[in-house]
Amino acid sequence: ELRLEGVSHRYGDVEVIRNIDLSIPKGRIVCIVGPSGCGKSTLLRFLGGLERPTSGSVSQVGEPPSDSINPLTYVFQDFALLPWRTVEGNISLILSDHGVPKKEAEDIITDVLARTKLSDFRKALPKQLSGGMKQRVAIARALAVNPAVLLMDEPLSALDSQTRELLMDDLVDLWTRAPFTAVYVTHNLAEAVRLGHQIVVLSRRPGAINEIVEIDTPLAERSSADPDLERTQQHLWA
Ligand code: ATP
Ligand code: MG
Repeated sequence: ELRLEGVSHRYGDVEVIRNIDLSIPKGRIVCIVGPSGCGKSTLLRFLGGLERPTSGSVSQVGEPPSDSINPLTYVFQDFALLPWRTVEGNISLILSDHGVPKKEAEDIITDVLARTKLSDFRKALPKQLSGGMKQRVAIARALAVNPAVLLMDEPLSALDSQTRELLMDDLVDLWTRAPFTAVYVTHNLAEAVRLGHQIVVLSRRPGAINEIVEIDTPLAERSSADPDLERTQQHLWA
């Protein structure tokens, strides 16, 4: 479990986050939703240890999974794939960076490509893939290191709405078959309702969390047209 306690942050004189408490339970997807500029990416950087808050604490409670190669892994909006390396090459680079032997890396790659339905594209270059496929490669690469927490910053926002729907289904499918812990940042409430066990809503004003909503419906039974969306929307923006 990852935990933020009493976290506040200023950039110069500007306070962007005020007194946030947040915990990321193991095996759950926590969605952080809010308008542009409200501090979503900043919070994610704190969780990932890329930046430290001006005050408050960020801690990891408990052990990462025993076969975890990298405790925290990012997936970004722009995929961040190396264009000159194949799908396999993009994933193997991370694994070799972490000292995974070649043979073992090959098995891990075979497994994550199967899980993300990319087995046929192992030798393809990123430019030969659609946007949705590129993002599936980025997700496969993140899952390859079996992270304790997967941090995703607007992973679908560069994609068209149809591709977004398909990828949300893929993420639900991946999670249902092998639950992982994730923080998923989005400005799209429908995405948050489809994917989140918990939804954390930030407002643009620092004053931080307006509300944390828990959704009990199992992920597999939700759709983007879920009545939960309507209810949550009314609840949050009432
Ligand atoms: P978006 O939805 O547009 O990605 P966000 O919710 O992720 O927005 P952040 O990127 O976390 O928002 O930024 C929160 C606020 O902090 C914004 O007002 C932004 O201008 C400011 N900010 C972010 N990074 C810096 C920085 N390095 N220096 C100064 N101000 C910053
Ligand atoms: Mg952002």
